[in-house]
Amino acid sequence: MAVNRLPLIAGNWKMNLDHLQAIAFTQKLAWTLRDANHDYSTTEVALFPPFTDLRSIQNLIEGDKFSLAYGGQDLSMHDTGAFTGEISGGFLRALGSKYVIIGHSERRQFHAETDEVVRSKVEAALRHNLIPIICVGETEADLAQHGPSAVPVSQLSAALSGIAASEIVIAYEPVWAIGTGKAATEEQAQQVCSALRIALTEVWGVDSGESTRILYGGSVKSGNISSFMRQPDVDGALVGGASLDVAEFSSICRFLKHVV
Ligand code: PEP
Repeated sequence: MAVNRLPLIAGNWKMNLDHLQAIAFTQKLAWTLRDANHDYSTTEVALFPPFTDLRSIQNLIEGDKFSLAYGGQDLSMHDTGAFTGEISGGFLRALGSKYVIIGHSERRQFHAETDEVVRSKVEAALRHNLIPIICVGETEADLAQHGPSAVPVSQLSAALSGIAASEIVIAYEPVWAIGTGKAATEEQAQQVCSALRIALTEVWGVDSGESTRILYGGSVKSGNISSFMRQPDVDGALVGGASLDVAEFSSICRFLKHVV
């Protein structure tokens, strides 16, 4: 964590919580953070609910003036037209989304998203003034075959190919750590996040390298967030399972209280 980059804790709900459950959850989370005097100017908190929850989340957050950001878990590479089932970046933006997750390993694995698809989606997000959270990460087989950084770095290079420097967030999520309870060590996370920052700097220059936030994701819990956040190139976390538990997620968001 570097002082000049605002830490971001992002909760990826995946296909959990319908819109009524989302309202109850978000209200409880916001109140829990408020009761704990959470300072959003020191740690940003963002929620990634299913698409069908976004309107309800927007109404709640805007109505009650909660300082939570939110966004989609995916978007279409297209802006409009005959693409049944797809959701455009424009629609996400119209609902007040700030971010959109792109290239999550579950999209790459279960929906055959290639590096080229991910790149097109990054372009689409930027066209609609959404900040893409670009997920990269190696499988266990990649790790054995290519070592820790090669696959994440090549996925990042492909995602940014031909795209001008812009505000993005990178999420390093080793596939073997997602939902397994087997998180990377802080040294592993730092090693790959540092390699990603070097790769980004080579493509987009020093300013982007220094200002871009890089998150770690994969079995993050309240008990291990501090060790990740002590690393100089880790600027936050993308949290799956633990983001569905208000007490656990709010404790992760408040990592600064237990970091030093
Ligand atoms: C994820 O799906 O992005 C994730 C990091 O999941 P988990 O925290 O459950 O490992």
